[in-house]
Amino acid sequence: MPAKKKGRTHIIKVYCAKCQTLLYKYQKAGLGSLIKCYKDRIAEDHTRGDLKCPKCDETFAREAVYHGKPANRIIRGKVYVRS
Ligand SMILES: [Zn+2]
Repeated sequence: MPAKKKGRTHIIKVYCAKCQTLLYKYQKAGLGSLIKCYKDRIAEDHTRGDLKCPKCDETFAREAVYHGKPANRIIRGKVYVRS
């Protein structure tokens, strides 16, 4: 998926905090903690698209819109990330 803007993005891996299952590979812009995932920046989606961990069924995000773009708002403490 081509990025719209050439910017400083990097791929991070988003894991379920409960069972350590890989949920997304996500193209993150900037530093700082992960608060939301824009849907069009999810590079690889390992979930069933229902915002739940495919392994332990824990809900880790909520549907949201940021700046007019659909996004998944991460529920604090439900995921951890690695670069
Ligand atoms: Zn899980």
